[in-house]
Amino acid sequence: MSENYNLSKLRTRLKKQIEQAVPEARIDYCLTCGLCASGCPASGIEDMDPRKFLRYLVLGQDDIILQTNWIYSCSLCQRCKYACPMGIDVGRLVYEVKGMRPVEDRPKNLQKSCDLQKAGNSTGIPNDDFVWVVGDILEEIHETEPEWSDLKAPMDKVGAKFYLNQNAKEPTVEPEEMVPLWKILHAVGIDWTYSSKWWDGANYCLFTGDPEDWELTTRLQAETVDDLGCTTYINTE
Ligand code: SF4
Ligand code: SF4
Repeated sequence: MSENYNLSKLRTRLKKQIEQAVPEARIDYCLTCGLCASGCPASGIEDMDPRKFLRYLVLGQDDIILQTNWIYSCSLCQRCKYACPMGIDVGRLVYEVKGMRPVEDRPKNLQKSCDLQKAGNSTGIPNDDFVWVVGDILEEIHETEPEWSDLKAPMDKVGAKFYLNQNAKEPTVEPEEMVPLWKILHAVGIDWTYSSKWWDGANYCLFTGDPEDWELTTRLQAETVDDLGCTTYINTE
C-alpha cells in the first residue's frame, strides 16, 4: 500500500525549533523559485544558497544544515527577504541556526574576533597602541605633506559632532589607510573624534549567532558615543 507523503506534515526537529523561535518564519510558504539565491552574495559558497538552505530544512536534512559552515558566510544583508515573493527572511532563519552551533564548533577566527571585541576590539591590541599609531601617522603626514600640516585626528574630543570608528585591521596592519578619510573630513570642516576606549567599527558578534554578545558590543559602542556627547555616529564598517 502506498503511503501519502505530505510535506506540510513532515515536521522535522530543526524546522520546529526554528518556527518556535521565529514565529514569522513562513518556511512552508517557500515556492522554490530561487529569487533569494539569485541575489545572495553567499550563494555557491560551500555549495549552498538560501533556497537550498530552506529545502534542506523542509525535507528534514537537519544534519546538513547543522554542519555547513555556509551559515557563517551569511552577512544578514536581507537581500533574500526583499527578493522573496513570499516575504521569507532566510537570513533571520540562518541567524537562528548560527546560534545553535556550540561555541567550540564555530569558525575559530570568527568566535575569537567576537570574544576579543567584547573585551575592547577584535584584534586584541591595547587601546594605547591605537592612540599611538594615530598620533604617529598624523605626525608623519605633518612632516611629509606640508599642505596637510593642519590635519587633525582628534581623540576623545568631548562634544564633537561626529563619532568615527575604524576598521581594526587598519591601525594594526595598514595604518596609512586611515588617512584619506581624515583628509576628507578635514577638507569639508567636519567636527569629529575617535574614542580611545571603543574605536573598532567591526561587529563580529553580529555573525556568531549569540544575541547577548551582539547586544553587548552594540551597547558598549553606543555608550561610548553618548559619553562623548557626539550627536552623529559614523560607522566605517
Ligand atoms: S541575508 Fe544571508 S542568505 Fe539572505 S541574501 Fe544576505 S547573505 Fe544571503
Ligand atoms: S525567494 Fe522565497 S519563495 Fe523563492 S526560493 Fe527563496 S525563500 Fe523560497
